[in-house]
Amino acid sequence: MTEALLETEAAPETGALLDIADLTLRVPGAARPLLDSVSLSVAPGEVVALVGESGSGKSTTAKAALGLFPPGSTASGSVRFDGTEVLGLTGERLRAHRARSVALIHQDPRAALNPVRRVGDFLVERGATRSSAVELLASVGLPDPERRVRQRPHELSGGMLQRVVIAGALAARPRLLLADEATSALDVTTQADILALLRGLRAEHGLGLLFITHDLHLAAAYCDRVYVMYAGRVVESRTAKALFTTPAHPYTRGLLSCSPTLDTHTPLHPIPGRPPSLTDTFTGCPFTTRCDQAQPTCETWHPEPVRLPDGGTAACVAVTAVGSRAAGRHGWAQPQADGTVKNGATHE
Ligand code: SF4
Repeated sequence: MTEALLETEAAPETGALLDIADLTLRVPGAARPLLDSVSLSVAPGEVVALVGESGSGKSTTAKAALGLFPPGSTASGSVRFDGTEVLGLTGERLRAHRARSVALIHQDPRAALNPVRRVGDFLVERGATRSSAVELLASVGLPDPERRVRQRPHELSGGMLQRVVIAGALAARPRLLLADEATSALDVTTQADILALLRGLRAEHGLGLLFITHDLHLAAAYCDRVYVMYAGRVVESRTAKALFTTPAHPYTRGLLSCSPTLDTHTPLHPIPGRPPSLTDTFTGCPFTTRCDQAQPTCETWHPEPVRLPDGGTAACVAVTAVGSRAAGRHGWAQPQADGTVKNGATHE
């Protein structure tokens, strides 16, 4: 059972649909927090990506929007949905929030569906009527929806099943969709179709969409803004365009340089070492042992996000050092296209 240490009094009114502020999550037996001071927001109609390697905390962060935490965990900070503190919800109010406000789409659609029940039954269980089930299937682009509601999962392809799962998620008319690696198991063509569908639903219904992926190139191409996570922390948050063209954090640059692109002449450079586990502790920046720009000070520097000129943030001592030394009190570090960082213009 999660013990929520609420700090809700000072939570600002942001207008965001989902507003996570300073969320720290501790689990029994772990040497470090599962999430450490995580802050992020999703506005209505916005597509936001959470990116990072396995174990970085992105799925745990997304599930916090549903008030879902590991057994025995302790949470502090704030998770607000449309102004309501989710950490304070219990009983019927928590069940109603999970059933109606936020919907989660998993990676494997076959795991979400009962193999012996019909597609129509799956949609009715999620709040649709028999007639609206057909309309829901049509709205997610499934051809011949009258026939599909009578079919069982083994009669549909993976792409069709993911459309059924998305239809099920929409049945309760949620305002926020959490897509957890929702296209990772699909072939490239089907993946593009599902991404186009989700973007269309976002525009049509004004849904907020939190898109969890390990693929930074996909996130940059598909989302409005991107949060990059490492070792349970947000290390960079930017608009997708800025992240892709001028990544500020060495970890972000590492993710970009080890992701394949259509340009077959660009060699891939894997990030050395392995992602930290929950038994690893840090005296300074968690990325120190894998970072090609690490300095002695990184081993004792506690990461703090620094605001960038474009309104994003990065938590790296190189960004902080250049911004504070060269740009003055109101100056911020300026990430360059070649990956270096130098002082930027003053922004009040
Ligand atoms: S703080 Fe140091 S180790 Fe961490 S990302 Fe920046 S340069 Fe690398």
